[in-house]
Amino acid sequence: MKHPLAAMMIASASFCGFTSASAQKAEPAATVTAAQSFKYTDEQFADIQMLRYKVEGFEQLTLKQKTFIYYLSEAALWGRDILFDQNGRYNLRIRQTLEALYTDYDGDRGSDFFRALSTYLKRVWFSSGIHHHYGCEKFEPGFSAADFRAALHRVPAAKLPLAAGQSVDQLADELEPVIFDPKVMAMRVNQKDGEDLILTSACNYYAPGITQAEAEQFYAERKPAADPRPVMMGMNSRVERDEFGQLTERVWRVGGLYGEALEHIVENLLKARPFADSPEQQKVIDLLVEVYRTGDLRTFDEYAIHWLRDTESLVDFVCYFTESYGDPLGMKASWEAIVNFKDLVATERTRKLAADAQWFEDHSPVAPQFKKEKVKGVSAKVITAAILGGDLYPSTAIGINLPNSDWVRREHGSKSVTIGNLTDAYNKAAHGNGMDREFVIDDATRKLIETYGDACDDLHTDLHECLGHGSGKLLPGTDPDTLKAYGSTIEEARADLFGLYYVADAKLVELGLTPNLEAYKSQYYTYMLNGLMTQLVRIKPGSTIEEAHMRNRAIIARWAYEHGKDRKVVELVKKKGKTYVKINDYEALRNLFGQLLAEVQRIKSEGDYEAARRLVEDYGVKIDPELHREVLARYERLHLSPYKGFINPVYRAERAADGTITGVTLDYTEPYDQQMLRYSRDYSALTR
Ligand code: ZN
Repeated sequence: MKHPLAAMMIASASFCGFTSASAQKAEPAATVTAAQSFKYTDEQFADIQMLRYKVEGFEQLTLKQKTFIYYLSEAALWGRDILFDQNGRYNLRIRQTLEALYTDYDGDRGSDFFRALSTYLKRVWFSSGIHHHYGCEKFEPGFSAADFRAALHRVPAAKLPLAAGQSVDQLADELEPVIFDPKVMAMRVNQKDGEDLILTSACNYYAPGITQAEAEQFYAERKPAADPRPVMMGMNSRVERDEFGQLTERVWRVGGLYGEALEHIVENLLKARPFADSPEQQKVIDLLVEVYRTGDLRTFDEYAIHWLRDTESLVDFVCYFTESYGDPLGMKASWEAIVNFKDLVATERTRKLAADAQWFEDHSPVAPQFKKEKVKGVSAKVITAAILGGDLYPSTAIGINLPNSDWVRREHGSKSVTIGNLTDAYNKAAHGNGMDREFVIDDATRKLIETYGDACDDLHTDLHECLGHGSGKLLPGTDPDTLKAYGSTIEEARADLFGLYYVADAKLVELGLTPNLEAYKSQYYTYMLNGLMTQLVRIKPGSTIEEAHMRNRAIIARWAYEHGKDRKVVELVKKKGKTYVKINDYEALRNLFGQLLAEVQRIKSEGDYEAARRLVEDYGVKIDPELHREVLARYERLHLSPYKGFINPVYRAERAADGTITGVTLDYTEPYDQQMLRYSRDYSALTR
């Protein structure tokens, strides 16, 4: 399973479970400088904003670890063509054709045609095919079929993917309906109930003409009667028809379908193997290589068990057919890869908090009878992504929980991580997007957020995750499910309030986690702004707040606003017709958070359903329609791209005369189109 990023990220909004881990230290000035020299945002096209992520901590790794990552990253890049082909059987030919036009077209490269063609190609690259990566609908090209055909005659024929004996016009005949006819291959994955989901889906997991009924029958017949540990049948093969018209599986393995690409992946896994962290990790690689060679799904489960057990290795990776969202029947897995290593800075930060867990419990404003006598903090599982490949590139997940096999999860558990540097990149990119300029009240507050925002945001998330959820206790006899539907909102509010209360504490300065007693104000401001106003951009006009995290933020922000109203602790003020959050008394706001924390803990400890219901219904659900309209209109004018994806860094190996790697360096400057063209040139086993 992957955890996608919520559609829109507001500056400094932390999401439960997704710990952001920038390399912030006690010195905020350093963070700001680093943020300025590294550009998180890159080009925008169609509905896409390209971002870059920083592989924080790579330089500090040993040569052995760097070499390991280098070879794994090579393996991760070799699967790119597989995904294009899985997403649609014309995708590779279309990509090659468009790339030839992009690099070798000798007509007017400043024309509307060429601009539209470039945008279309960028979208095809981004989605690994001609369908939208999220919505699954086919792209509408902004140029005509006639212009496309004419342009094909203006590139050297040798650059085009012409089949044997095929003329340029025949290639145009072949591709035109696929690109231009809205009725042909309209959806990559069709989920409409009542239609033949295989015949109407353009994905390439079943050969043309195979019906849903046939495929379902094929797998029903092969399903073992009562297997307590069933393999994930069909996950690594394409269903085809043999010479007798019978269905058969062609397995994706070395020597089988996609074998040319898989050979390169295996070669690089074997090159990486000597540099693995431990014999256990080498065993993981051995099993994976065996799966690539045999396609055997029992071996795959064995690999998965060894992989999830290996929690000690610093470097870790996923590099196989993994998620089945791309198959309308939910069986066939798309190829994906991510290479990563433990985020040591985040781990150290949360270790400090966890070590003092009892102090935080003892000093909280909660009534003594609701406190734990013995509390244990949790250290965060945050990783740093080093490279993204296949179905995790360029659009990616910010959290991963694998493996997917039900019985393996049931009997052996799973590995769940959050990808800190990607979350961090989303946050950093959000800073320059105009949200702060539009919604933050004045320059002084903006400066405060700029200086301390990210560091305190990370800390708030750490406090929420490492201490908040684990604090407090139920009174004897309280049923943990008493709060029913309000339970998760109350629980998130409790963890958030614990974080808000303590992010302002002198204890954090003492631990070296915040630089001073000013820093927390950035978190207070962005939290109130988000809860009272900016999170509303994710809600359609006329709707109410449904999602638990959003409800909890609304409850905290509105409760504090209402209860401090008479003393004007927080105000909503109008300037030139626009509403702004104004915080007059940060210390009083902290006391309000403390009061609410005590009350929410009481509700939880006593199982006070009625109080939970009132809190949620009074503060967490309804929206002031006038303020909502205003926020939506202000947001609309910022023209932010709803979808984001990442450009990978470039890893360069320095080698001795005998080929041994003596160093690995990182480069973050490669433009999006150059990266895509380079990948097509250097990592294409299926298109040559
Ligand atoms: Zn939480």
